[in-house]
Amino acid sequence: MAKIGINIVTGSLQQAEVIVGIDLGTTNSLVATIHPDTKRPIALKEFDNSSLVPSIVHFDSFGNASVGEEAKKFLETEPQNTIFSAKRLMGKSYNDVKTNAGFFTYKVIDDNTDSLVKVQVGNQFYSPIDLSSYILKELKKRAEHILKTPVTKAVITVPAYFNDAQRQATRDAGKLAGLDVLRIVNEPTAAALAYGLGLEKDEEKTIAVYDLGGGTFDVSILHITSGIFEVLSTNGDTYLGGDDFDRLIIQYWLKEIGLSEEEMHGNKQLAQTLRLVAEEAKKHLSKQERFEFDLSTITNYELRITANNLLLTTYNLQLTTEKFNELIQPLIEKTINSCVNALKDADLKATDIDTIVMVGGSTRVPAVKNAVSAFFGKPVNDSVNPDEVVALGAAIQADILAGNNKDFLLLDITPLSLGLETMGGLMDVLIPRNSKIPTKVGRQYTTYQDGQSGMRISVFQGERDLVKDNRKLAEFNLTGIPGMPAGLPKVEVGFLINADGILVVTAKELRSGVQQSIEVKPQYGLTDAEVEKMLMDSITHAKDDIQTRALVEARTEGEQLLNVTEKFLTKNAGLISKEELLVTAQAMQALQLAITMEDKNLIQTKTEELNEVTRPFAERAMDEAISGAMKGQNIMG
Ligand code: ADP
Ligand code: MG
Repeated sequence: MAKIGINIVTGSLQQAEVIVGIDLGTTNSLVATIHPDTKRPIALKEFDNSSLVPSIVHFDSFGNASVGEEAKKFLETEPQNTIFSAKRLMGKSYNDVKTNAGFFTYKVIDDNTDSLVKVQVGNQFYSPIDLSSYILKELKKRAEHILKTPVTKAVITVPAYFNDAQRQATRDAGKLAGLDVLRIVNEPTAAALAYGLGLEKDEEKTIAVYDLGGGTFDVSILHITSGIFEVLSTNGDTYLGGDDFDRLIIQYWLKEIGLSEEEMHGNKQLAQTLRLVAEEAKKHLSKQERFEFDLSTITNYELRITANNLLLTTYNLQLTTEKFNELIQPLIEKTINSCVNALKDADLKATDIDTIVMVGGSTRVPAVKNAVSAFFGKPVNDSVNPDEVVALGAAIQADILAGNNKDFLLLDITPLSLGLETMGGLMDVLIPRNSKIPTKVGRQYTTYQDGQSGMRISVFQGERDLVKDNRKLAEFNLTGIPGMPAGLPKVEVGFLINADGILVVTAKELRSGVQQSIEVKPQYGLTDAEVEKMLMDSITHAKDDIQTRALVEARTEGEQLLNVTEKFLTKNAGLISKEELLVTAQAMQALQLAITMEDKNLIQTKTEELNEVTRPFAERAMDEAISGAMKGQNIMG
């Protein structure tokens, strides 16, 4: 709830509401706010004097989660229980991430479908939304602890290249952490705001934001006119960052001390130590010319023994800036190549860029700075701490939304999310709350049953996960869909809100062209207090809602798999042996039972098991129609 405070000087009541800015990073996350006295953004630090919370979640054998530095200790020793880089999985299916499957040292569920990816730790399943919510909860706790006030509102940043699903997943994670996410802001936009760019009324500028973090690199070209930020292009490499610098240092040292990578990985303590020392060396070399470390000073017994047994040629780890620059040169060149492509996509030349903003811890490396500055032909902006700049900008955006920055123009926005009812009574948001209007979005849906000729389109408004808890705005039937197997029709549903706030919903089956539309006035009859109540309800019920959603999704996925398997068995009876048939029937029964029991984890386990069982012969004969039926979302018939 919003908090009422009393101004001690005047004795008047005042609204002391804090809205924080959060950078939910792949490697590190942090929270910032506007200092009430200085009116400047500050990153919130705990006693350890660091604002950074490593984006890592560790689960102990009881399933208790720890986050940040506490969790980081387990990276090498308990890789299967220590989840890093959850951000890479946000809004993704296994098919989206499978080419990089080797990157993850924990179990990412490989169910070979287009449903959203899950992580398995012990016998628990976590969605990337769950995992991110642990990090957000930690940041919320930190902010409340330092500011000594409840924090329920936040602005969260995401990469400019995040799509709708990834943005929605980030909102959901916020909600699950007990935060009302006022807005999702692009990271480069936030960074620009932290440099004061875009805050002048008549300012027009083209800027480049170069962001080199721990595991990802992106460069964005933005055009800023009177406070409006437009992303002209983005480019980058989602698997390139400072961690790769560390890896190159380790490889170099391994050669120097006469050890192979396998030997190093054979000793987890040694691997962990080298990883930490390499990062330390890299940071040291951002300021000094030379780094040295004596491995024999390490007191860890296990490590000493291994080192002795391995007969190292030397215990002395050394690195000069010159050598380091030589090692990372190819990676720097890759990032410059991305800058070339970003400019090309924006149809601009390097000289068209007015300002270059440096973001991400790895831009502290002088060789990186120099290369970027040389490429654009001018000095770069690096005066704001590159680890904090995104969160600081998010805090500035939050302050504008709180109405504290009156000069700043606020565009018309939608106060509540708008969406459709999908399978199981779930709310599928097409236009998230706080979207600028006018706006237009489209999404494709498909049928659930063979030969389904109609589709009910029910439009809802609100923040809850189940439509029954939201407000129904309109409903109509799209009829005349020609008979096709389930999953084949393509129904494009469009939501358009014009400048007057009128919502027009259209549905069109793309193969046959049948079409239907309706017009509604979303705000009609809703008072501000009612909107506020709907928002607060969504926070209070977030946990139940998300659990219910997870159950409904698991059930739908399980039911679909049962359906597909059944169809497959009838069609391809000849391809399957008696034994296979028997185990399949058993796995199907177990899944059916789990669905009846409404136990989410059990449903997921049994779905996974049925997948395992059917995979070999499904692969033998998986035809287009069946894989088609497993794809896409289904609206109630
Ligand atoms: P992300 O945006 O991916 O969460 P960050 O912006 O926090 O990542 O960057 C983290 C990376 O920055 C790590 O690889 C870390 O080693 C690196 N880094 C931090 N400080 C320095 C420094 N002084 N010199 C070089 N690299 C640094
Ligand atoms: Mg970052």
